[in-house]
Amino acid sequence: ATHFVIDGLKAAIDGKEILKGINLEIKGGEIHAIMGPNGTGKSTLASALMGHPKYEVTEGSAQLNGEDLLEMEVDERARAGLFLAMQYPSEIPGVTNSDFLRSALNARREEGNEISLIKFIRQMEGKMKELEMNPEFAHRYLNEGFSGGEKKRNEILQMMLLDPKIVVLDEIDSGLDIDALRIVSNGVNAMRSEERGFLIITHYQRLLNYIKPDYVHVMMQGRIVKSGGPELAERLENEGYDWVKEELGIVD
Ligand code: ADP
Ligand code: MG
Ligand code: MG
Repeated sequence: ATHFVIDGLKAAIDGKEILKGINLEIKGGEIHAIMGPNGTGKSTLASALMGHPKYEVTEGSAQLNGEDLLEMEVDERARAGLFLAMQYPSEIPGVTNSDFLRSALNARREEGNEISLIKFIRQMEGKMKELEMNPEFAHRYLNEGFSGGEKKRNEILQMMLLDPKIVVLDEIDSGLDIDALRIVSNGVNAMRSEERGFLIITHYQRLLNYIKPDYVHVMMQGRIVKSGGPELAERLENEGYDWVKEELGIVD
């Protein structure tokens, strides 16, 4: 069974410590949400897990089924089952979406066991239909000229095809209108499984009306300062973050 444990994770950007010791445990079947004000390090957590070169991990570990992802190369992390949808997905001019997806998929398979082109296209088209994506997006260059909402749908398409064990979604709701939010959320909900854990990073409670989290964590100034159930997200929506700061004596 999937078991993901982030233990004492500290990370710095340009020598400045942003993550000050993150502890989090996610089991298969669970959805965890991280909420928090802007600039508290939520995306830094996602980037550090992914192995973005700008983010230097200075302490701690992130073990997926006993193996530390932070010791692995970026592509090994994906092979181990980590998937990240970034807040700002990159554009890759010259590489079509479908070529990108197929090589990402094959990179996770054993050599000699690559997915056939026909099978891949059938799978991709099926998922694109579920996400109500225009079929032409298969042949467009990756994310180039995609609207915010189209990029987010495309991230979910990648997730669905890659079938990861741990999914981290960073502000997958940003830039989505209500229809796109519903489609993206349905995609995520369809991927819920006992074999898979989710970490959903969001600034707004709205997303959590569509994707019901089991646990909600509040991040402030590089730490998880409070954890609870879905009711915590509702309180944050109604009352903002000030009460958390007061409760914890945080001054900013
Ligand atoms: P959040 O996602 O919670 O809004 P971030 O993780 O993006 O917060 O940012 C946390 C802090 O790290 C902020 O002070 C931000 O300015 C800084 N930061 C993030 N990314 C970079 C970067 N690439 N270069 C310099 N500073 C950064
Ligand atoms: Mg932000
Ligand atoms: Mg962010």
